[in-house]
Amino acid sequence: MKVAVYSTHGFEKPYLIKACGDDHELIFIEEELSEHTVEMARSCIAVALFTSDRANAQIIEKLSGFGIKYLVLRSVGFDHVDLNAAGKFDVKVANVPAYSPYAVAEHAVALLMALNRKLLPAQKLMDANDFRLDGLTGFDVHGKTVGIIGFGKIGQAFAKIMNGFGCRVMCYDPQPMHESIIGQNVEFVKLEVLFMTSDIISIHCPLNKSTHHLLNKEAFNLMKKGVFLINTARGPIIKTDDLIDALAAGQIGAAGLDVYEFEKGLFFHDHRNELVTDKLFEKLRNFKNVLISGHQAFLTDAALKGIADTTAFNLNCFNKGIDTINEL
Ligand code: NAD
Repeated sequence: MKVAVYSTHGFEKPYLIKACGDDHELIFIEEELSEHTVEMARSCIAVALFTSDRANAQIIEKLSGFGIKYLVLRSVGFDHVDLNAAGKFDVKVANVPAYSPYAVAEHAVALLMALNRKLLPAQKLMDANDFRLDGLTGFDVHGKTVGIIGFGKIGQAFAKIMNGFGCRVMCYDPQPMHESIIGQNVEFVKLEVLFMTSDIISIHCPLNKSTHHLLNKEAFNLMKKGVFLINTARGPIIKTDDLIDALAAGQIGAAGLDVYEFEKGLFFHDHRNELVTDKLFEKLRNFKNVLISGHQAFLTDAALKGIADTTAFNLNCFNKGIDTINEL
């Protein structure tokens, strides 16, 4: 099949080429899918999308008009695709429901530990030949209470690591859990209890109507003063304005963010020769107790291979006219 691969990044290209072999003709497009770039998919049968691509109803209608029959997502999350519109225009959509949950869970731990043990300021002192330790005090994670919002694949991987640290782990998830999962060393609690009890909160739920701005002023006010907040899920789950106020007031002790509410157009691009005009982002970046990575939690060798293999699998199934278990 001829496939338009939007938002192609250098880091994933070799994995996609290897996984697809001679089965598919991949047209690599560096630009994001938008009203301005949708034309580039003409003559293709399928389109492969990254998290930064937006497939809204208008774009899906255009793609369908070009004869596009399949959308394959190189991601777990599918909040960037209008599934209703895809159904309406008979465009089949499949995602990569699991690749390496460890990649994301371990990155959440990396953010937590780098913030807690003040590794970035420590590196700056080291670079300046200043070997004093003042201002670098952290805390033992052992014995702390960790709250996990969303106990799916990544949330569970994160829980196991936190269990290993010797933490009390509690989680909130609206889905009833299988007994084998409940057997893990975690307590299922109401969201308010998680907010009120946790020393560290890590977000691992999808972005949807129920989770948009789930972490807002009211939620922050319920939390323990000085709580550490980690978000590797999706930016809009946190209301950034409210987070900035909570950080300024010391209500949030530190924030480790791999995702940002307004990251579209910002993350994944080289802005070195421009001014970044996003005032909220600038405010966030100026906090010493905020550590931001540019949506890179998935970026491990195992995860890239998993994404490419499942993308090729989805394309193969569509090509052969057989169902893929990953169809949304
Ligand atoms: P998953 O589907 O296995 O688990 C998500 C869990 O969240 C499910 O158990 C679900 O019941 C729960 N959930 C749904 N609504 C909720 C709510 N209102 N409150 C609390 N929990 C809720 O997904 P996963 O593989 O664990 O991935 C989780 C999210 O991580 C994805 O949706 C994606 O947005 C994000 N993600 C980010 C990166 C990255 O690079 N930063 C990479 C992969 C995934």
